[in-house]
Amino acid sequence: MKQDLQSAADRLEDVLARIRAAEHLAGRREGATTLVAVSKTFDADAIRPVLDAGQRVFGENRVQEAAGKWPGLRDDYEGIELHLIGPLQSNKAREAVAMFDVIESVDREKIAAALAREIDRFRTETTEAGPRLLLQVNTGAEPQKAGVLPQETAGFVARCRDVHGLRIEGLMCIPPFDEPPGPHFALLAKMAGELGLETISMGMSGDFEDAVMLGATHVRVGSAIFGERPRPA
Ligand SMILES: *Cc1c(COP(=O)(O)O)cnc(C)c1O
Repeated sequence: MKQDLQSAADRLEDVLARIRAAEHLAGRREGATTLVAVSKTFDADAIRPVLDAGQRVFGENRVQEAAGKWPGLRDDYEGIELHLIGPLQSNKAREAVAMFDVIESVDREKIAAALAREIDRFRTETTEAGPRLLLQVNTGAEPQKAGVLPQETAGFVARCRDVHGLRIEGLMCIPPFDEPPGPHFALLAKMAGELGLETISMGMSGDFEDAVMLGATHVRVGSAIFGERPRPA
């Protein structure tokens, strides 16, 4: 992180400029990549300056934590789009459906079933569409990591549609920490293309420019904007 960028708003501006530069380098349309500002572990007062600077798309990794700050921020700012980027438990599905605009971490049958049930209920009660959904893909096939295996992704997208009536809009991945991310980003983009899915969420503070170069429609950037996290997420 650059030392001369003192405030979160300054760092936001820097990240946005770097995204636009990478789009330009890659010959992509300006604005082809949406920045998801990852505000996990930061409280509402730390988030407000970033909202004041115009950022509207945010990511949180815990339902409970998001519930503590975003309803209040939504009262004060128009047009917020909130993404769940962390693992979802089925007993939190109802709350997640009501709170998030995009759930990026659909990763197993039980969650698909719970989301289908809760989205149905939500639509009936509110006449709103409910959250957009992405599948998390475990591109590195890491045993400890959430996500559908690459070779099971096409089948799972089909089951979401045919068994659960869920439309999957795209894919997300978190590459292994100890490997260059490029091949993982390329794989995710290729899979999304083959499946005809329009949304590709990949790239974090350390590698979002690579992700933009390889076709990300969304990058999820936390510490490069908000600073080092006060505690592990
Ligand atoms: C925390 C987190 C990020 C952001 O990480 P930074 O390295 O702080 O940019 C992105 N994606 C997911 C899924 C996360 O949990």
